[in-house]
Amino acid sequence: MTASSTQQTRTRAPVQIARVALPVPIDRLYSYRVPDSFQTWVRPGRRVIVPFGKRKLAGVVIEEGSEADLAKFKARDLIDVDVQLPPLSQELLELTRWVATYYMCAWGEALRAALPPGSASASSRTRVQTVAMIDFNEEGPEVLPRGERQRAIIEQLRIWHMAEETPVPQRRVLAECGGTAATIKRLAEMGFLFVEQEERDRFLEERRAVEASDRPTLHAGQEQAVAAIQGSIEDNRFETFLLHGVTGSGKTEVYLRVLEEVRRRGQTAIVLVPEISLTPQTVRRFRARFGDEVAVLHSRMGDGERYDAWRGIGEGRYPIVIGPRSAILAPLANPALIIVDEEHESSYKQFDPAPRYHARDVAVMRAAKNNAACILGSATPSLESLSNAREGKYTLLEMPERVPVAGKPARLPHIRIVDLRNEPALRLSNDALSQPLLDGIADRAGKGEQTILLLNRRGFAPVMECVDCGWVPECPDCSVSMVYHKPLHHLRCHYCGITQPPPRVCPTCDGKELAFQGSGTQRLEAELTARLPDVRVLRMDLDTTAKKGSHHDILEQFGNGDADVLLGTQMVAKGLDFEKVTLVGIIRAEAGLQLPDIRAEERAFQLLTQVAGRAGRADLEGEVILQCLDPGHPIIQFALKHDYAGFAHYALATRAILNYPPTGRLVSILFSGPDDQATRTTAEKFRRLIDNHLTDVDRLGPSPAFIHRLKNRYRHQVLLKIPQGVPASRIREGLGKAENALGSLPQSTRMTIDVDPAGLV
Ligand code: ADP
Ligand code: ZN
Ligand code: ZN
Repeated sequence: MTASSTQQTRTRAPVQIARVALPVPIDRLYSYRVPDSFQTWVRPGRRVIVPFGKRKLAGVVIEEGSEADLAKFKARDLIDVDVQLPPLSQELLELTRWVATYYMCAWGEALRAALPPGSASASSRTRVQTVAMIDFNEEGPEVLPRGERQRAIIEQLRIWHMAEETPVPQRRVLAECGGTAATIKRLAEMGFLFVEQEERDRFLEERRAVEASDRPTLHAGQEQAVAAIQGSIEDNRFETFLLHGVTGSGKTEVYLRVLEEVRRRGQTAIVLVPEISLTPQTVRRFRARFGDEVAVLHSRMGDGERYDAWRGIGEGRYPIVIGPRSAILAPLANPALIIVDEEHESSYKQFDPAPRYHARDVAVMRAAKNNAACILGSATPSLESLSNAREGKYTLLEMPERVPVAGKPARLPHIRIVDLRNEPALRLSNDALSQPLLDGIADRAGKGEQTILLLNRRGFAPVMECVDCGWVPECPDCSVSMVYHKPLHHLRCHYCGITQPPPRVCPTCDGKELAFQGSGTQRLEAELTARLPDVRVLRMDLDTTAKKGSHHDILEQFGNGDADVLLGTQMVAKGLDFEKVTLVGIIRAEAGLQLPDIRAEERAFQLLTQVAGRAGRADLEGEVILQCLDPGHPIIQFALKHDYAGFAHYALATRAILNYPPTGRLVSILFSGPDDQATRTTAEKFRRLIDNHLTDVDRLGPSPAFIHRLKNRYRHQVLLKIPQGVPASRIREGLGKAENALGSLPQSTRMTIDVDPAGLV
């Protein structure tokens, strides 16, 4: 008998007092008495429901406590133990402890990210559900029952039984034969049939079968990458690989091959993809190779479905888990491989609520704890990962060429610039499509080929503007301009969601001419339809994909050739692979470059490269038309030449001079509150305190955050720039002292610490 099975069979001593981590921003454990009936169930890692003030909270048992722990408090009883969810493993308890320490939050907050969400109370949505299943009793009475309904049910049941369709859900029996639950109960008592309660798996019900796919022969670059990664898996050796492969170089095929090896060895793996790439296309490729072994998690799952998924993973039913950032804390046992696709994506960083973790960095940590291999894949690696590779912490694997098609090397698309300064007609009319781009679209449509049009919405949306004084409507609660939505004829704030009718006259100067500046996706669609009436257009943005499944439908229609043009926001840039797309148009290449964010240029370069990669992926050659006002901008020039190395050299130099990541590290401390001046005063006081406690780091601010007001709260930010060599523990200690000295915050003021912040707040 092995050690682990001994442990499993050993009967547990009852636990009378449990120390529990709770999702509240105070990093300590809370002690509760365990009622007798729960004592054998309580153990480290169990999800429990406890009273906390007037609330009920879901927490995780960390350890057994003693009477001494209770002495100081009025001991309260634990309310419930979730016995259906397998307890979190020791590994996940340690990993979440690390997350809490590194990202400076409470352990209970970090644990919240490792549990299926759902209300704290034992609601039916986060509980295992059962359905009644009816089976025919072959040895039941030979004469039919007397009642007409009863007889109909038994006759139908016999037919189903002969067709081997039994047991059938009670719901179906009643729907087809009439009767009520009481009828069934009566028949069961008479011995005609059996009723069994079967567990219902809400997660399983969502899944659909997919056909198996062919495995292509790997090209040389893929062979090398696969061999290197397999080496680390065979040796059970922790190693992180940065797989830098241009778009269409076959990175996904590398993932699939390495996963096959992991499965051959009976091991498990996690695959992280950005939410936006969790397209049916991606999912289908993994399903085709691994079928039911794959659990796909996504943000649109209901609470019940997610609960069942978590439970199934915890019970070891799915050796491969695919999902967005939260999947990194999925309860999978001993992962041997962790893949982070599109590792540069900012959506891997969580902002609210705590833990404010970066899933890529947690992935590397989890791999290290499990002696696993970690693959970070991207066509445009983040500067952080690139510099880790250069310092020898990661192993760099490069695939600089696209997958050859029919023996010929596939080329990256040709990129052409349209200088908008030479298009005065556009500037006067406020239109967005230049003649060369329109010609390109019409030409492709005529040949049965397709076009993708990207409108980078960040910092570039259809806002209303007074022609006379330049006034722009802003959200009354958030300091951002409101966006005009034509179908509903209203203005909407994209941060808090409130809507307003557009004003008829300018509130500042009484001017009557309110025009729309910039161009949103709707406006672009209207312009395109007006200029090229025969071209069929599909639009994909936040509005058209709000409904569940609509994202899928739009892509399916485009894939089927139901449209000539797919037009949209960033959503169209990622991971899509359509054979017929030979033209990609970028409406304003410099949109986003000017945002006050240290990663603005990096993001713009990544986006341009990714979207350009959508063109010409099969045997048809691709072209990219890039409209911009500033063709000389270094970022545009690097994108034009597909020059990642040049871009990295340029960007790393700037970051090093300013001590920004990856040279130094950042920690942002955000204060928010309903009163602007009071919030600012608190931030200033805190700044003076860190001047005393953290002398070896650069201290900036406080300054109003990029979004100064959000949901009627004012926000002021203090930023720490931490030079290389200053350990994280120093920062934690200094911040802790400053926080203590600050004392309790004024009413409804909040302090939010964000370690390695990803962008504008
Ligand atoms: P990436 O993830 O790097 O963008 P993919 O893995 O999606 O690239 O590969 C691009 C296309 O090439 C896909 O349609 C894929 O099925 C195909 N492909 C990948 N590797 C090979 C190969 N070795 N031989 C033939 N086709 C391949
Ligand atoms: Zn005005
Ligand atoms: Zn708002």
